[in-house]
Amino acid sequence: MYTPGDNPQLTGRFAPSPTGPLHMGSLLSALASFLDIKQRGGQWFVRLDDLDPPRQDPAADTQIIASLNVHGLIGDRHNSPDIDYQSDHQIRYAAALSRVQSHLFYCNCSRRSLAGKRIYPGTCRERTAWQTDCAVRLRVDDAEVVFQDELQGSYTYNMASELGDFIVQRRDGLWAYNFAAAVDDGQDVTHVLRGEDLLHVTAQQIYVMQLLELEPPQYAHLPVLCFADGTKLSKQTHAPALNNQNPSVNLRTALLYLGQNPPVEPAWTVSRWLEWGLSNWRMDRIPKRLESYAEST
Ligand SMILES: [Zn+2]
Repeated sequence: MYTPGDNPQLTGRFAPSPTGPLHMGSLLSALASFLDIKQRGGQWFVRLDDLDPPRQDPAADTQIIASLNVHGLIGDRHNSPDIDYQSDHQIRYAAALSRVQSHLFYCNCSRRSLAGKRIYPGTCRERTAWQTDCAVRLRVDDAEVVFQDELQGSYTYNMASELGDFIVQRRDGLWAYNFAAAVDDGQDVTHVLRGEDLLHVTAQQIYVMQLLELEPPQYAHLPVLCFADGTKLSKQTHAPALNNQNPSVNLRTALLYLGQNPPVEPAWTVSRWLEWGLSNWRMDRIPKRLESYAEST
């Protein structure tokens, strides 16, 4: 098997939402984040982003963990659980929220009143005293967030003119994805490798980390796996669940999509494939656009 990390200060993660079983697109993110951080000698863990119960499937977390285990993608964080649940971080998020209190306001704009507006118009900015039945919104400054994505290049966003004030805690009390991910990634992770569909929220997450004086991780955003008609594989688009009976085939297929030129070795075990992946992983081989997903592969 692969050698354990000798760079324990480097940490990567795979952070699925438990909305359904893993599909090939999620395996690409899990495998790429695993190989990338392991090759750097770092540690890896799984974080279940389970902060939106209405959207979740109660069976999904065990399905996801079982599927990752079958594919040899097992966390190895020192002195911390290998599987982390965001729902266990309520105190951490509340503490982070109080640290940015001076940037918060309470928004009761209806979805309808904001329909068609790309940027929040600032309607409730003066409501800085706590109010019930409101979303908590973060007031952004006329400031630039700059980051260098390892796969997608350099990005600069003006927070006020391009992104606007954004929700950190929803009206129903649930934490907003961007806020929770920023609080966790800023404290637990040095490298975030995830799908390109999350590239557009990266600046908001970095902005939260900067307010909290946390060091943002190094980001790399993978091109997303799509069906032949261009729609992304997801639960909503009925992406088929990974077949856990064929993990070696799935790993080879994932390496193929990721441009890593895996050999044809029908007899290789899961650990042999991971070993090959660790020795041969190269970020610069990942194509700008992936081949379309074909279920037979
Ligand atoms: Zn408002």
